[in-house]
Amino acid sequence: MDVDTRLAEDWVRAIAAAVEREHERLTELDSAIGDGDHGSNLRRGFTAVLAVLDGPDAPAPDGGPGALLTRTGTTLISKVGGASGPLYGKAFRAIGAALPPGQPPADAAGFGEALAAGLRAVRDLGRAEPGDKTLVDAWTPALEAYRAAVAAGAGLPEAAAAAAGGAERGARDTEPLQARKGRASYLGPRSVGHRDPGAASTALLFRALADITAG
Ligand code: ADP
Ligand code: MG
Repeated sequence: MDVDTRLAEDWVRAIAAAVEREHERLTELDSAIGDGDHGSNLRRGFTAVLAVLDGPDAPAPDGGPGALLTRTGTTLISKVGGASGPLYGKAFRAIGAALPPGQPPADAAGFGEALAAGLRAVRDLGRAEPGDKTLVDAWTPALEAYRAAVAAGAGLPEAAAAAAGGAERGARDTEPLQARKGRASYLGPRSVGHRDPGAASTALLFRALADITAG
């Protein structure tokens, strides 16, 4: 299974559906250690992304999956005010840029490189290290699990399932951490004992990839 335009669109739509289903939980997590808007931020962003995909100015199919994912990122940046908008926006733009038009659709290994570019973009912008209690703590183990699966011969569905498991584990493992980046860091030690909302939304993103690639 390769990453074609159809798969990229299915992924983005699945993320939008997951955000729609889970925005209250994300906002609750952000109420505990932030300002209680993570779910509504992402909901606003992905509602706008769906409007683009369904609108007259949707990305042209011949731009390939890269154009669709880049446009997703641009839309998130322009519609989401919180930290997560620019971070996820840059991530999707970097994933899109790693899948240029006119190339054969990426296989599992190629898409792994695109996902790595997404994480690099998040880290370049936010300067968070693993352990700082951010979405980096979900994305990093997701990517590690994805790459390990590919190295062991897995195709996209199996690698995506591994990544989803890694992201969910990483999100859970943010609970004992003290936040060192973003709003939650203002709480100092009081951020301990809560799951990071951005790590939780990153887990949704990888679970959506696993869901749409599973048989
Ligand atoms: P805001 O913090 O502006 O209200 P959101 O609530 O939408 O934005 O997003 C908060 C999430 O953004 C956090 O849970 C964290 O995962 C992520 N985040 C914040 N700052 C950073 C950063 N510097 N690097 C990576 N992720 C970050
Ligand atoms: Mg917030």
